[in-house]
Amino acid sequence: MRIRAENLSKSYPTPSEPLVILDNLQLDVASGDSVAIRGPSGCGKSTLLHILGTLENPDSGTVSLGETDPFSLGENELAGFRNTEIGFIFQEHYLLPQCTVLENTILPLLITREAPEKGEARAKDLLGRVGLLERAHHRPSELSGGERQRAAIARALINSPGLLLCDEPTGNLDGETASRVGDLFVEIQESVSSTIIVVTHSEDLACRFNRQLVLSGKKLLESG
Ligand code: ADP
Ligand code: MG
Repeated sequence: MRIRAENLSKSYPTPSEPLVILDNLQLDVASGDSVAIRGPSGCGKSTLLHILGTLENPDSGTVSLGETDPFSLGENELAGFRNTEIGFIFQEHYLLPQCTVLENTILPLLITREAPEKGEARAKDLLGRVGLLERAHHRPSELSGGERQRAAIARALINSPGLLLCDEPTGNLDGETASRVGDLFVEIQESVSSTIIVVTHSEDLACRFNRQLVLSGKKLLESG
């Protein structure tokens, strides 16, 4: 899915003047490409990712996700589009504690009412790819931090989304574990056709993606 943002601006109101976060930002990512966006804490990375993921509206500017202008869709249509076309991976795993790893992975498919048997086979395939098949029937509390993040990655991929958005996916992991999750992202880029956008302040993670951008001065700049 080709991802485009044109003239994107976003500010938050404050008691004095509005806090400008993004100012006429431009982005164009080719379908199937992978991009890392770096920048210091507080520079607006999550805000940008939330807008691209249709979780937040820009003040002005346009977003195109493939052929779709998500902000022109009605609420239900947008929720359906988001569920099937966008996979999210956050710093927190947001796995449901009462569900097993397998159930957590299948969950987004249940929302689209796909046949459960088909979903289970696909979830197991994904859990194999992220190295968690032996943990399929464990609950999140029985996993390490790295394993929980691997489960969140499998869940994000279950609908074969056109766009995979990752917000500091290794932010909660120690160096060694973060590096192994980084390896997994390299494998994922080779095996899925999703466009991948990752925001991170980690240079180690950023350099594992095709293209590197920096969010600086409220705009995106090419880097390296
Ligand atoms: P990053 O992800 O790069 O650390 P964020 O996008 O989370 O940065 O935040 C950018 C700036 O916007 C920060 O200064 C933050 O405090 C501010 N901000 C984020 N969300 C809101 C909000 N809902 N209301 C007001 N200010 C916000
Ligand atoms: Mg953030």
